[in-house]
Amino acid sequence: MKILVINCGSSSLKYQLIDSITEKPLAVGICERIGIDGRLVHTPAEKDKLVFDKALPNHEAAVQAVLSALTDKECGVIDSLEEIGAVGHRVVHGGERFTKSVIIDDEVIEAIKGCNDLAPLHNPANLIGIDACKKLMPGVPMVAVFDTAFHQTMPKKAYTYALPFEYYDKYKIRRYGFHGTSHSYVSERAAEIAGLDYHNSKIIVCHLGNGASVSAVKNGESVDTSMGLTPLEGLIMGTRSGDIDPAIIEFIAKKEHRTLDDIMNLLNKKSGVYGMSGVSSDFRDLEAAADSGNQHAKDATEVFVYKTAKYVGSYVAAMNGVDAIVFTAGLGENDKHIRQSICDYLGYLGIVIDPERNNIRSKEAVITTDHSKVKVLVVPTNEELAIARDTVELVVGK
Ligand code: ADP
Repeated sequence: MKILVINCGSSSLKYQLIDSITEKPLAVGICERIGIDGRLVHTPAEKDKLVFDKALPNHEAAVQAVLSALTDKECGVIDSLEEIGAVGHRVVHGGERFTKSVIIDDEVIEAIKGCNDLAPLHNPANLIGIDACKKLMPGVPMVAVFDTAFHQTMPKKAYTYALPFEYYDKYKIRRYGFHGTSHSYVSERAAEIAGLDYHNSKIIVCHLGNGASVSAVKNGESVDTSMGLTPLEGLIMGTRSGDIDPAIIEFIAKKEHRTLDDIMNLLNKKSGVYGMSGVSSDFRDLEAAADSGNQHAKDATEVFVYKTAKYVGSYVAAMNGVDAIVFTAGLGENDKHIRQSICDYLGYLGIVIDPERNNIRSKEAVITTDHSKVKVLVVPTNEELAIARDTVELVVGK
């Protein structure tokens, strides 16, 4: 079966067509600048990417452009749309309602709308993508895969904030966590590679990309994670501050006569390693700047590493031990220096990194010595494959 995986944002739509037997993408691509002018970048497997400047006034036009590219005589990878057996949609927030992936029907769409308040930037965009596919591919089963679902196993003590309880009762303010599809995929794969029984193991996943989060996965279930009600909490990220003293918000507002919206924008878009360094949100730029003597870039990297190591330590405490620590996402998969620096703080766990094994990019590997008490691994994440797998399981099992 061929599965179309859709990740729909407010002005972009990423897609992959995945063959469920080989589990390889037949084509990947992105529609950008939807509602502005429009651009489609389409890459058939093992071929060069093609860029089309195409009017994309709305998401329906974007889905139509994707379907045309997939069936195109020149750059297409299928003969007809009938070959697409199902569509898997990434949905950011499933609230407490969705603890796993589900087949999309009208009732599910209403329930996703019910979570819009919790992810006002993401869920409405995800729903627009679902609606566009429904119109253009009527009758093709669709599945929603939630970023929050994997973390729904967190115990109350991990998801509760120390606020008056009425805010949970009234508004469901609690920790939800994100990147769940990645934490789930990567932790299970790490258990396989490390020869651990997933359902009897303690694994810490460091998903370090532009957005970054750590999770504690015990016996195959998420028991804690660093992102919270929103993806702003936790680690220092590319442009997000992560944890700060909440009183800083009022302090800056008063000092600089700024609005709440303005300060939230500052914390989401102008902080993190970008704000601290004044250089970039990309660690490749930070390393280049640090190498040429930029102290702010050095400091930003050091604070990021220190904070990440502290989170890992706290999750060792939360699970009373750890069998494996896994690095994934852009930075975790590619940057040996960051992995080494984080693990330098974890020597007390008996972790010994093998520099040669650590000298890799974007491939599955154990990077500790054979004598290391805890295994450290690199496992490239593959959220699209995880979405395709869930989609097949639900649709075929229907
Ligand atoms: P997201 O999906 O959250 O946008 P990614 O997982 O693609 O982010 O990660 C992007 C980040 O990964 C970049 O901002 C950069 O900091 C880091 N990164 C990617 N490739 C490399 C590399 N080769 N070396 C160091 N850092 C890298």
